[in-house]
Amino acid sequence: MDTFDLAIIGGGPAGLMAAIVAARNKAKVVLIEKNDNLGRKLLATGNGRCNITNRHLLLENYHGLKPEFVLPVFEQFDQNDLISFFETIAVFFKEEDRGRLFPISDQAETITEALSKELVRHKVSVRLSSQVKSIEQNGFWQIILEDKTMIKARKIILTTGGKAAYHFGSSGDGLFWSQNLSHTIVPIYASLVPVETVEKWPPKIQGLKLPTSIKAFNNNTFLAEKEGDLLFTHYGLSGPAVMGLSGSIAPLVAADKGKVILKIDFLPALNEVDLLKIINQIFQSNGSKSIINNLQELLPLNLVHQALSNSKINLNKKAAEASRHDRLEIIQSLKAFTATIKKLRPLKEAQVTRGGINVSEVDSRTLESKIVPKLYFAGEILDIDADSGGYNLQWAWSSGSVAGRHASQH
Ligand SMILES: Cc1cc2nc3c(=O)[nH]c(=O)nc-3n(C[C@H](O)[C@H](O)[C@H](O)COP(=O)(O)OP(=O)(O)OC[C@H]3O[C@@H](n4cnc5c(N)ncnc54)[C@H](O)[C@@H]3O)c2cc1C
Repeated sequence: MDTFDLAIIGGGPAGLMAAIVAARNKAKVVLIEKNDNLGRKLLATGNGRCNITNRHLLLENYHGLKPEFVLPVFEQFDQNDLISFFETIAVFFKEEDRGRLFPISDQAETITEALSKELVRHKVSVRLSSQVKSIEQNGFWQIILEDKTMIKARKIILTTGGKAAYHFGSSGDGLFWSQNLSHTIVPIYASLVPVETVEKWPPKIQGLKLPTSIKAFNNNTFLAEKEGDLLFTHYGLSGPAVMGLSGSIAPLVAADKGKVILKIDFLPALNEVDLLKIINQIFQSNGSKSIINNLQELLPLNLVHQALSNSKINLNKKAAEASRHDRLEIIQSLKAFTATIKKLRPLKEAQVTRGGINVSEVDSRTLESKIVPKLYFAGEILDIDADSGGYNLQWAWSSGSVAGRHASQH
């Protein structure tokens, strides 16, 4: 039977990074992955282009019960360390909008291939198609695979991910084992996920996408605000703005804690005063045309129809006849349009998991369990999730690196 210094369960970005760092540190490492290839979810990131990190890492981009847990980890390995790390395996990045970094090749395969080669170079034993069924500590860690094979290791890192997009492999096994080892799990929710609305109109304009700014409220209490594209779908709303709000509203919707509404600004580049001036100008120039035809100058006709469907304004009357009250009501409808959340789309459709191993039970410097010695965690299995923009992968790389380094020290 094989005995290793370190076993890493889960061959996603956190596990891959942990394995390479530990092996470079001269540890005898086994990386165990249930899929028949490494980094299956990684290959799907950034629409296959892999938004690997972000030039600007800010604490405010991270969420969980204790987001500041990320700080000692990023102090040891941040986005600049990541760029340097990838240079050592000949992968280079380009920067796009909002500080997002992608491989120059625009292909996630570049990342998985380079990491796989590095695993071979450092003689990491990679076990693919190997689903771990249980882990037990008995002097050594004993890891039992589905086919009953046992692997022994002095230390273990769990990098099995959360429960989001579980068709890529992250089915929550590590959370289950950790709970059996007395760790507590912060409740799991889908995050970075589209939402379904109570209102039935989004399918009528499905496929339409436009830049917005969206504020979420629960029983009139402000929750969060995001800017970005909004996409109308057959079930409701998708796109970065609404997905970015989903983590904040998920627990409230799940607990049925009153109404959660979104106030959507369809013209975020204009404030109310400027918009009134523009509407006045358009209506004056085309006074004999109908209100609705004039508003087409600002937004797509089908959207304007929906946005104003609840108003009492006769949209077919001449623009010249629109009263000041009409004009203010138009502004209100276009800049604070209300949609009510029915529910979030399921974890399967989420990009990331909110919740996970309670980080109060984990040493933020080493990522070793405070409850079970020689047990480490990295990546999405922990109660840390982030905004979209490369922040989630950076967490996986950084925590993987830190756990790999500390777990490989004697
Ligand atoms: C569609 C999509 C797009 C995304 N795009 C981006 C992006 O562009 N930028 C970004 O920063 N983030 C992105 N994310 C989020 C990011 O992919 C995750 O946060 C990240 O992959 C988490 O890494 P991880 O290593 O912790 O877990 P995972 O990547 O989930 O890896 C866990 C691994 O553990 C394995 N495993 C689980 N249980 C067992 C078991 N019992 N035995 C053996 N192996 C097991 C799984 O098969 C899996 O390979 C995206 C997510 C999705 C779903």
